[in-house]
Amino acid sequence: MGGWAIAVHGGAGVDPNLPLERQEEAKQLLTRCLNLGISALRSNLPAIDVVELVVRELETDPIFNSGRGSALTEQGTVEMEASIMDGQKRRCGAVSGVTTVKNPISLARLVMDKSPHSYLAFSGAEEFARQQGVEVVDNKYFITKENVGMLKLAKEAKTILFDYRIPAVGLDTCSAGVDSPLVMNGLPISVYAPETVGCVVVDGQGHCAAATSTGGLMNKMMGRIGDSPLIGAGTYAGDLCGVSCTGEGEAIIRGTLAREVAAVMEYKGLGLQEAVDFVIKERLDEGYAGLIAVSRNGEVAYGFNTTGMFRGCATEDGFMEVGIWE
Ligand code: ASP
Repeated sequence: MGGWAIAVHGGAGVDPNLPLERQEEAKQLLTRCLNLGISALRSNLPAIDVVELVVRELETDPIFNSGRGSALTEQGTVEMEASIMDGQKRRCGAVSGVTTVKNPISLARLVMDKSPHSYLAFSGAEEFARQQGVEVVDNKYFITKENVGMLKLAKEAKTILFDYRIPAVGLDTCSAGVDSPLVMNGLPISVYAPETVGCVVVDGQGHCAAATSTGGLMNKMMGRIGDSPLIGAGTYAGDLCGVSCTGEGEAIIRGTLAREVAAVMEYKGLGLQEAVDFVIKERLDEGYAGLIAVSRNGEVAYGFNTTGMFRGCATEDGFMEVGIWE
């Protein structure tokens, strides 16, 4: 056994012209979350508790696209989704269409632990949240000024905003100071583009867990469900590894990306990084996404085919890294 390891992400697809202070803010948040996970692992918290703890922290901070700061639906509301999986016994829980639950990842955990089901959505998920007594807030709590501006731009551009697909022309015009429908307050909208969050952990016992949380895509249709709450697509953990994905949900769903990493390890005997590289290359031919993964041997790996991915990882032997680009 190789000891514990942890990786976090704050979304795939980053504008190459993202101002340095924005990059710094994101990196600081990732570092803080990583450190939170590291101290929990040093105190022997099981992997499943660590992924929940770290994702809660990411949901509470408005920087990324989960909990407060979530992307908005076409009607300007927030519909959040999250999933969590414990690789040890392959237990899982997921929620979608959550509108008032402060930390959707903890509701997903309760679905796993306290309900006879794996996945609850919309009014049923909200009712379950109330039965369980989790903290609820008004939907307005999740809505930030930046996201209201982005929704307006997405509507003007008549697009569902895939921030990882922001056209290069939007970026150029920004540096040149020329008006573009994809520029807000003189900055490319990707500066504000919110990104899904995730955490994967293998603990000192070699048990893997994964968690993912998101507001989904900006200007999404009401009721749209992405990959993040879907076990096997956005999130997966088993005996061998834990995986959390981010990017174009529809492409991740088609590629059953998270499960594919585990499957090629199981059936092709690939190592963790090889499995990640294989899946990014072979299963994302028509999409843009990224993922983080840990193995039961204490390895971490990541991969993406977008311009960047906010991410960080650490292992028990003292390695720690936070990065955005290749
Ligand atoms: N995968 C998420 C979704 O499609 C978005 C993201 O990862 O940024 O809902």
